[in-house]
Amino acid sequence: MGRHRGAGLGGGHDEREQTLNQLLVEMDGFESNEGVILVSATNRPDVLDPALLRPGRFDRQVVVPLPDVKGREKIFEVHARKLPVADDVDYAVLSRGTPGASGADIENLVNEGALNAARLNKEKVNMADFEFAKDKILMGTERRSMVISDLEKRNTAYHEAGHTLIARMIPGTDPIHKVTIIPRGRALGLTQQLPIDEKHTYPSKYLEGNIAVLLGGRAAEELVLNDFTTGAGNDIERATNLARKMVCEWGMSEKMGPLSYGKKEEQIFLGREFATHKDYSEDTARKIDEEVVSIVQRNYDRAKSLLQKHIDILHSLSKELLEKEVLNSNEIDAIIGSALPESHAVPNE
Ligand code: ZN
Repeated sequence: MGRHRGAGLGGGHDEREQTLNQLLVEMDGFESNEGVILVSATNRPDVLDPALLRPGRFDRQVVVPLPDVKGREKIFEVHARKLPVADDVDYAVLSRGTPGASGADIENLVNEGALNAARLNKEKVNMADFEFAKDKILMGTERRSMVISDLEKRNTAYHEAGHTLIARMIPGTDPIHKVTIIPRGRALGLTQQLPIDEKHTYPSKYLEGNIAVLLGGRAAEELVLNDFTTGAGNDIERATNLARKMVCEWGMSEKMGPLSYGKKEEQIFLGREFATHKDYSEDTARKIDEEVVSIVQRNYDRAKSLLQKHIDILHSLSKELLEKEVLNSNEIDAIIGSALPESHAVPNE
């Protein structure tokens, strides 16, 4: 309720607009001495009708962002209050491992943990149950029954090892939490990174490092298998999107300058971005494409040369992965050993 009036479909007699008109009339009917306070909530403040926000109407705004690390810890405590929880459960660790989770996500995680403990006939819910729930939610359910050929497994192992090694070798990227070649959700394998702290802005170096990590899987395929698989499709799409945003939205390309290219149009009743309005010339479009290609290409080359330099580690990483199927951050660092850049130990900022 309260969407911007006169936006496309329906016209002035649209039921939504009538409701809003009536609401505005009622609100103006209150006297200032009646002591009536009207409180309302929305997750789409961007589409509200300006008349609602005029002084005297909804003129105070309280922003409720996603909880931060301390907030999540407290939310864990609240939801786990009624559960028999074992002593080894550390909410601070769980909270650090779930950046960006909402209160509902945390509630879901706690429930999944309790279900797992019940399934195993445990008397108390312990840390392993919560870790299991976290992996299930963040990475999808394990699909151990899926039949995968040995060749496919080997390809996946090298692909994931490529992501992992690049993430460990480029300082400033998010640390690796786990890498697995057990199919989860729709993926054959997964490399999971977790940020140390929540970021509100992203420096361009961090973004370029991320692109290199995304392309690390494909680079490993090219180096070791001398061939490409379709498994990298999603990585490539994400890397390309990131590079395009760097050029078109965040003004991070030296050649294109600090400009924003392309206006987004939102269809207000669909609430989705559905077209990008081109506000630049054909010539500029060509230059943008060139810049995007150059960002992606230079990070692909960077990933490839890093893997080439540490090819022995790449082999041992994927060998371990094939044997154990899952490696955690300590096991990964033990394999990489002294080749690990020192600066990586320092959390960013
Ligand atoms: Zn990948």
